[in-house]
Formats: sequence, structure tokens, C-alpha cells
Amino acid sequence: MSINALGIIGSGQLGSLLCQAAKKLNIKTIVISDDENGPAQNYSDKFIFSKYDNKQKIKEFISEADVITYEFENIPINILKDIDKEKKVLPKPEINKIIQNRQLEKTFVNNLGIKTTKWAFIKSAKDVEQNQNLLPGILKTNTLGYDGHGQYVLNTLNDVKKDWCFTADYILEKRVNLKKEISVVATRFKNKEIYIYEPIENIHKDQILKYSKIPADINPDIFKKAHHNAEIIANKLDYIGTMCVEYFVDQEDNLLVNEIAPRVHNSGHLTINAFNISQFENHIRAVCGLKRENVKKIANAEMVNILGSEIQDYRKRSFETDKYFFDYGKKIIKEKRKMGHLTILKR
Ligand code: ADP
Ligand code: MG
Repeated sequence: MSINALGIIGSGQLGSLLCQAAKKLNIKTIVISDDENGPAQNYSDKFIFSKYDNKQKIKEFISEADVITYEFENIPINILKDIDKEKKVLPKPEINKIIQNRQLEKTFVNNLGIKTTKWAFIKSAKDVEQNQNLLPGILKTNTLGYDGHGQYVLNTLNDVKKDWCFTADYILEKRVNLKKEISVVATRFKNKEIYIYEPIENIHKDQILKYSKIPADINPDIFKKAHHNAEIIANKLDYIGTMCVEYFVDQEDNLLVNEIAPRVHNSGHLTINAFNISQFENHIRAVCGLKRENVKKIANAEMVNILGSEIQDYRKRSFETDKYFFDYGKKIIKEKRKMGHLTILKR
């Protein structure tokens, strides 16, 4: 069956960029979002403003789409599964269930024989005490984390506050002495073919991505292993669409999986200008059952995330050739909010 209309859950910048890629392929987009101001409505063919548990609106959404995808992973799993009964959701909900839960995600990766940071599942202060070997470490909520939200640095046991009630589940991760952070964006197609973009080097500030660049300054072994692990993960998940594996490289050149994103990824924004086919177009191609095309690099590139009020200055500037400014068109400026990005091609 050929796909004419793609449903997208979520209306942020990832949704906007997916809609733009779909337009290029002549595929209609229907976006559903609980954010009335979600910028993707400026690019979609249809926008449905609704809570994700509104059965009526979900029904309308499903009826208009041939296949459904999502731009963020923190969607309640039962909602994805219900939608999937009517119209196919890709990547499949089962994948999202694993990845939106740090404990399941790390267990999955470790079971493939792939290293992650050292970690433990935490339900109480006593669990932290029993895992003191992981200090200094970072306590992360087991679900619903993004851009560093829900993370607490624990240098010593004294940092565990007596009055913390541990209402949520957590994992405690040993802090890695980072040499570098890299990510690998890959798209896997229905016929099981895969395209893996070259590793991207990332710099985070306050746990939020600030800069990305290609080529990543890494040795060939790490390049190969980062690609290989991403391929193993994508195959094991029987993944369809674009995904990203975030890695840490420690001072001893160990490559550790930090986390997997079951979606297009911020570090892959530079693929829009640096490749003939972006991570977004590849995602649309994969979930809509189109075949893999030849992907070619146009140029090396750097990307800068524009956060919070930084956008005001960018909005006044003009840009020379090979500098591409993306304004996500978000109405409300908040500190550290991703407002836009700039990609610079390096020729
Ligand atoms: P999020 O889900 O919010 O993206 P991450 O687990 O990817 O959370 O953490 C965000 C950033 O915080 C990482 O990219 C890294 O820079 C830093 N960080 C997280 N965990 C560790 C760790 N165990 N050791 C060192 N740095 C870490
Ligand atoms: Mg992350």
C-alpha cells in the first residue's frame, strides 16, 4: 500500500522538521499535540489540538493517517498500543516501552554485550547506600527524563537528603570522566537495510546539547564500534525509522552507550544541510515504506543550538552562504528552551 498521509504525535521542532521532509516527498502530515502553540502546526497539513487520552480526537487522528509515528518518546505506552491496533505505529510501541524506561533500556543494551555506564536501580535511600561504589554519580528518574530534567548529582552519601521520599523510581549511574560525547544516527528500512550516518561529536552544557559537529574527532576503532553497536541495537529492536544512540567515550577510550532515542535526534539536525538526505527524510522514507536511497555527504558541518533568549539576537542577524538559521517559531521564550539552531557547512 502506498502511504499518502502520515500521522505525527507531538508538535515541537522535531515534528516541524518531519513535516517539512514529508512535504518534499509529497506525503501529507496530520499532527496531534497537547500543546496548543506547537510549532509543527505551521508545517503540517492538519493539526489536532488534544490531550493524548481524548478518545474522540485520537479517533479522528487515526482515521486521517495511513501510518503513525512520534517525535518524542514519553508518550504513555498504552496510548501508543491502542493507536497501533487501528493503524500501524512506527517505530513499534514495544520499542518505545523499552527506551522510555532507563532500567529496561540499559538492561537491553547490556544483554547485547554492549557496555553502558555502571548503574543500579534505586527505590530508596538505602538502595543508594548499598551502591556507594557508584558515587560520585548521577541519580536519574527512571522515566520521563529529557534535557537533564530529573537528574541529581550525588557526590557523597551526604547528598542524599534525609527528607527525600523517593516517590519515583530512579537509576544511579556512576559519573564517567568524559573524553568525548558522540552520537550515531541510523535509519533502518522495512526491507531491513540500514543507513548509518557518520558519528557526530557533541558538547553538552548543563546537560543540554549545545554544539554538534562532523567529523567527530575520534579514532577509527571507536568510529567502527559506534557504528557496529548502533547496527546491532537497531537490528535487535527490528527498528523501522530513524533512531539515535548517544555514547560516552571515557578517558581510556571505552565506548559506553549513554542512551537510545527512538526518534530523530537533535544532534542529527546538521544532516539537513550536510547530506543530500536528512535524518528526517530518511525517517519518513522508512516509516512510509519507501526504499533506501543513496545518501551522500555534501560537506562537513557544525551545529549550534540556540537556547532561550539567545534567539532574540539571531532573529536580527543575516547569514552568509553556508550558514543556515532555523527559528522554531516558539512563541514563548524560556530559559534553556530549544528555540532554534544554526548549521554551518565547512567546505
Ligand atoms: P537526558 O535524557 O536528559 O538527555 P542524559 O542521560 O542523556 O539525559 O544526560 C544528559 C547529559 O548529562 C549527557 O549527555 C552528559 O553530558 C551528562 N551525563 C549524564 N550522565 C552522565 C554520566 N553518568 N557521567 C557523565 N556525564 C553524564
Ligand atoms: Mg541524552
